[in-house]
Amino acid sequence: MQGKIIKNISNTYSVLVEDKIYECKPRGKFRNLNITPLVGDEVIIDEVNKYILDILPRKNELNRPYISNVDYALILTSLKTPDLSLLLLDKQITFLILHKIKPIIVFSKLDLADEELLNTVNELSNYYERIGIKVFNNNELERIKEFLKGKEVVITGQTGAGKSTLINKLGDLNIKTDEISYALGRGKHTTRHVEIYNIDDINIADTPGFSALDIVGYSKEEIRDAYPEFNDSNCKFKDCMHNKERECNVKDKVEKKLILKSRYDNYIRIISEV
Ligand code: ZN
Repeated sequence: MQGKIIKNISNTYSVLVEDKIYECKPRGKFRNLNITPLVGDEVIIDEVNKYILDILPRKNELNRPYISNVDYALILTSLKTPDLSLLLLDKQITFLILHKIKPIIVFSKLDLADEELLNTVNELSNYYERIGIKVFNNNELERIKEFLKGKEVVITGQTGAGKSTLINKLGDLNIKTDEISYALGRGKHTTRHVEIYNIDDINIADTPGFSALDIVGYSKEEIRDAYPEFNDSNCKFKDCMHNKERECNVKDKVEKKLILKSRYDNYIRIISEV
């Protein structure tokens, strides 16, 4: 029968089949093939002998945390304490698009922002929505829940952005996510424990160590192509990187304010770090 891995503790995988959980071990062939089943995997199990027989093709996967088949990542983005960082936001968006995961921005700590900052955030929201990225704020819980129904979701964000608060508001869980990732950041834990919780028909993965995202293993061209607003540009050079080239349509659009300057500047920074 077919099910979904929702938890892994020391090579024992909890596989959810309808409403029942089977604790399974992977078959030896996976080790020989150097394949590790991941939380999120759709698998075929032998429910009698409690073995994972096969892993269905993944639509995406992450290595840190180890998880697959993620539909959406909520990028929890604080406006104050910690201050709004558009570089971090754009890095996270780029990382997720490169991994074939749809980003959703959730602004938090609006109550700490002054009117000027709120206006800026309003403009930013319109821009990101225009390039196809859904934007919410963390007070819109019902809208967020409605949007995520039936989906597998991870939540990322800086420590202090309110990740555990949001998870606990979405469902009545007692997860201390920020504390866990803080401990991971200091290298004290090496746990890879990832678990998917079903809350009101949303599959939320609790993913420690998901706050620092490094874009490694991708070319500058792939990063460029992960910027949706660059895709219909009409530059003189066919393979334009929109950097030092002449007659660059993207740079024109930045000047005409059709492309957000911070998005463009962050793109240049991201490709310069590759
Ligand atoms: Zn260009």
